Amino acid sequence: MLQSPPAEPGMREDEVDTPALILDLDAFEHNLDTMAGFLAGTNVKLRAHAKTHKSPVIARLQMDRGAIGQCVQKVGEAEILAWGGVPDVMVTNQVVGARKLARLAALAKISRVSICVDDPAQVAAIEQAAEAAGVRIPVLVEIDVGGKRCGVQAGPPAVALAEVIAASKHLRFYGIQAYHGSAQHIRDPQVRATAIASAVEASRRTVEQLRQRGLECPVVGGAGSGSFQHELASGVYTELQAGSYAFMDADYARNTEAPPFQHALFVLATVMSASSPQVAVVDAGHKAMPTDSGFPVVSGRPGVSYVSASDEHGKLTVEDPALRPRLGEKLRLIPGHCDPTVDRYDWYVGVRKGRVESLWPVAARGAMA
Ligand code: PLP
Ligand code: MN
Repeated sequence: MLQSPPAEPGMREDEVDTPALILDLDAFEHNLDTMAGFLAGTNVKLRAHAKTHKSPVIARLQMDRGAIGQCVQKVGEAEILAWGGVPDVMVTNQVVGARKLARLAALAKISRVSICVDDPAQVAAIEQAAEAAGVRIPVLVEIDVGGKRCGVQAGPPAVALAEVIAASKHLRFYGIQAYHGSAQHIRDPQVRATAIASAVEASRRTVEQLRQRGLECPVVGGAGSGSFQHELASGVYTELQAGSYAFMDADYARNTEAPPFQHALFVLATVMSASSPQVAVVDAGHKAMPTDSGFPVVSGRPGVSYVSASDEHGKLTVEDPALRPRLGEKLRLIPGHCDPTVDRYDWYVGVRKGRVESLWPVAARGAMA
């Protein structure tokens, strides 16, 4: 059930009902502008990942600054974006099942929709869906560039799969998907750079071998917020897929040489109990914020630590009782991992200089299928 918004435009931030998802608009716009600045004057395009924000409004703001479209992981996300006016949506993921593929093929009539594969059976299934809908779908071969999750091996196996796509009447070979997810959060910048260098090498080799077989490779896509500067400089990647850069979560801030973005996304919480001198309890626990990437950081309050979570409670401790937040006080928590945090809320509460400015729906919230 869609919840009513926790705020109204014009309210002070400390009047917003909690827990609420706060977007600091100055920091957010700074992040979008900073990323646009990295790509300006290069041949590389941003295709920002909407798995992070799940919002056609944010997609529009990214495209206003030069992004060529959006990436998604799920068909439901693609539907919300395409119906919300995004003209170019890439599913950077495998989609299995005739019903899902039929939904995707239907979308291809209103938006350019592309998709990844790592198996010839998938090529056949997408060909069937495209034929039934009377559309032609651009398809990328996903290669495993070190994440050891989805994807065929670089080189000959990728070329063989590309040839199957190219021979399919209702498909078009569109390029390779070469995303190294597990490299994004490697703390040591040297180790991170080495991991991406090997992804670049695998991609370069695959593009060359495709060309030898007469297959041009219009798109080499990948990169996230932790590594995009390497893919950008590679001369091989044509599209970057960063998503978290717009919000900058606490886990990315733990990388050494962290991505150059400001924290823009917060869970606003209220101190609901402060009955002992070194403890305060906020109304944001596991249900307000996943903790797969660690507990949140309390923004602007050095000496105050979020130390444990239960379903509806978050426990804060202070070494110095003088630092303890007051009962009723509202605190900004920087989530450990922005993507699943966003998915817990129906509304972004956009705040600028302490006042609520905008309420945007997290339109693709819960789009799991
Ligand atoms: N591309 C793909 C395929 C992803 O799965 C993800 C995130 O998991 C991203 C890009 C974006 O990464 P980030 O949010 O870390 O920028
Ligand atoms: Mn993530």
